[in-house]
Amino acid sequence: MGDLEPSRHPRPVSVYLHVPFCVAKCGYCSFYSLPVGGAPDKALVALYLEALSAEIASLRGTWGPFSIKTLYVGGGTPSLLSLQDWESLLRVLASLGDLSVLREATVEANPCSLREELTSLWRSSFMTRISLGVQSLDDGELRVLGRLHDAQTALQALERAVRSGLETSADLIFGIPGQTLGSWKRSLSLTLCAGVSHISAYQLTLEPDAPMSNRAPDLPDGYPFYRYAQWYLPRKGFRQYEISNFAMQGYESWHNLAYWRHQDVLALGPAAWGYWGGLRYRNAETLELYLEEARQGFPLREQRGERLSKRAQGIEAAILALRTSWGIPRAGFAAAWGNPMLHEIERFLREEVPSHCVFFDEEKITLTAAGMRVGNAIWAGLLGLGDG
Ligand code: SF4
Repeated sequence: MGDLEPSRHPRPVSVYLHVPFCVAKCGYCSFYSLPVGGAPDKALVALYLEALSAEIASLRGTWGPFSIKTLYVGGGTPSLLSLQDWESLLRVLASLGDLSVLREATVEANPCSLREELTSLWRSSFMTRISLGVQSLDDGELRVLGRLHDAQTALQALERAVRSGLETSADLIFGIPGQTLGSWKRSLSLTLCAGVSHISAYQLTLEPDAPMSNRAPDLPDGYPFYRYAQWYLPRKGFRQYEISNFAMQGYESWHNLAYWRHQDVLALGPAAWGYWGGLRYRNAETLELYLEEARQGFPLREQRGERLSKRAQGIEAAILALRTSWGIPRAGFAAAWGNPMLHEIERFLREEVPSHCVFFDEEKITLTAAGMRVGNAIWAGLLGLGDG
């Protein structure tokens, strides 16, 4: 996949927008969202949309103008918004900048709230892709996770998404208490049968602030589930192009590639993370604080950020690149971060990591499937190279 950097357009950027409303909190979730018990309050959504417009105006004034190459509307539960609120949101998003180079625009959806009226609206707008939070197609596992949908609802939502003509990706979770290899295989194969072109497969992990972590459940070893996905999905035409992501040829997520290629990503909405020219920043952590900052013109964006040293950026760029099947492109990496950094990283990978985990050729350095299975240990080693 080449990159899209046409010079006749303003600076092309990727954008992440956080929609902070959910019906209820799932047991494993540590993302920021407000559990609203049903539809979010109209007046609160109106304030949120107003603040979003103000944030866009402020970003355009300080770092703009922009052309938008990828957009990701995540959450929270973006599909919880009403049709009218989505019409307003699309208008707000269109004010971000030049959309003529937009390559991909994804919206996250929840099986319970993915309605036909929304998929039709998205299809008729600049949205191109749905990422559906399926998580499992086993009712017992969904209950353990504290999800509100059952397998039947998820399957119907998958079919609705695929039928809409938008590219469809499904999120699935492995390592759920009580999950078996048989039920994992069934979730994978039913998801494929529904016609998706992309699958993200994540191991269940519980951050201390996740509701389920109070109950301290025993989590099964995720390794056999992951290995199975690595074996099964490529046989069905889904290439593993990143540690947690599998896609049919041409259906990789361009937005996520912007993160893995260490490119700039603007953050919009409460608790959204952004990266801008070496500055990693996080927006106000709650909707309440975000609305307050909007009233003040977003004065804290840069103060709240962390500016990474050149060396830290280089190590991070190497880790992100190794997550993908494209790996570290030697020439591009050396041009961006210098030959000494490339040699130091290569020396670490040759000397400290088992040889069957890494592949080296003249153009690139990549992890093998076995290397991806021990990715966390490799990242820890690379981060241990420290500030030199
Ligand atoms: S997992 Fe998704 S749907 Fe569940 S609470 Fe978290 S953001 Fe909301």
